[in-house]
Amino acid sequence: MGQVNYYHAVPSPEMTQGLKNRGRTREDMDERRHAVEEFTGARLPTIAECPFDPQLAEKNVENMIGTMPVPLGFVGPLLVRGDHANGEFLVPMATTEGALIASVNRGSSVITAAGGATAMVVKDEMTRGPVFRARDVRHAAEAARWVEENLNEVRAAAEATTRRGKLLSATPYIVGRSLFLRFAYSTGDAMGMNMATIASEAAARLIEARTGTTLVSVSGNMCVDKKPSALNAIAGRGKTVLADVTVPRELLESKMHASPEAVAETCYRKCSIGSALSASLGFNAHVANMLAAAYIATGQDPAQVVEGSMGTTTAEVVDGDLYMSVRLPAIEVGTVGGGTRLPAQAEALSMMGCLGDGKAVKLAEIMGAVVLAGELSTLCAQAAGQLGAAHSRLGR
Ligand code: NAP
Repeated sequence: MGQVNYYHAVPSPEMTQGLKNRGRTREDMDERRHAVEEFTGARLPTIAECPFDPQLAEKNVENMIGTMPVPLGFVGPLLVRGDHANGEFLVPMATTEGALIASVNRGSSVITAAGGATAMVVKDEMTRGPVFRARDVRHAAEAARWVEENLNEVRAAAEATTRRGKLLSATPYIVGRSLFLRFAYSTGDAMGMNMATIASEAAARLIEARTGTTLVSVSGNMCVDKKPSALNAIAGRGKTVLADVTVPRELLESKMHASPEAVAETCYRKCSIGSALSASLGFNAHVANMLAAAYIATGQDPAQVVEGSMGTTTAEVVDGDLYMSVRLPAIEVGTVGGGTRLPAQAEALSMMGCLGDGKAVKLAEIMGAVVLAGELSTLCAQAAGQLGAAHSRLGR
């Protein structure tokens, strides 16, 4: 009998350790991939292609064996009337979902023809929420009070680890012997998760020493990173972005073949009632779609689409025209650090003039406008009964 030896399906610790430690030059990467090919029996000539020096990805990946090409397209020109993003933008989107870019592009052309989308960032705080063990509720409450009364000392400990990060607040929550502190930071143009984690650990060590509590984890899930949560949906995490547009009736009917009334009703019954009935935290059509494609294209952390997806989309008929808006409470993006260091991702950011210092809020505003474009297009397609036809034409 032809047997599969399952033990061979698991790389030995020696193998993974050896592969990991063999450096990051192109030769190291090739050697590592050849070992993987030998182990798995799979040939990986496409993954082998790496159009940049693998050392550039030193802080982005371990056990590097190549790159994973994802098709890249764009939408636009998208007219944005933001506080920081002002003008027409071409927005890069990396996806394997046929019909997505065509749909967002359709929404984008209507927004531009309507005079553009207003977009703004109304809150900008990255959070980390360590959890401490106390003796009992009184001890936890005393420790929380110590933090409140000595916030400047806590702030100094946190900010000693970073030039740009600023500790804005530390909100306590107590359950039994567990004390949670939700630290909120201003993180400049970085998304800020590494920055906030390192700063919070330093602050937490001081709090341990001064209060007699014990740090159990620098992330106690009151952050809340990469999990859907009502706390983030209400209070926000990263950048809270608002965007809106008014689309004149004639423009909507001629380009989208849907009336303002039909779009408003679709949004109400789907995004409000349907989302409430299903206890969804996303009161929207498909916010995650635009964010995932734009995040992958621009080197953001795609796992944070979880928080990003918790947007609220509204549509109303105002003076006979369609008024639409999105509220995106957790747009966690940066224009320095993380995946923005990689060459293709940096090029994609430069398409929007969003690479480097002073650009993160601008990028968040563009994200708000492109999400609005996707919401507009999909809600119009559903109001006009066109969604299935578009997907079978473009995606299958
Ligand atoms: P980072 O690449 O770790 O740090 C950004 C760096 O940029 C900081 O060292 C900062 O220095 C520097 N910097 C230079 N110019 C800046 C400017 N204008 N504004 C802000 N910072 C500037 O990036 P990060 O944003 O903190 O973290 C993002 C990474 O964290 C992503 O790769 C993501 O996948 C990962 N991540 C980590 C965790 C975690 O728990 N650690 C969780 C989720 C995601 P200073 O600090 O000295 O100011």
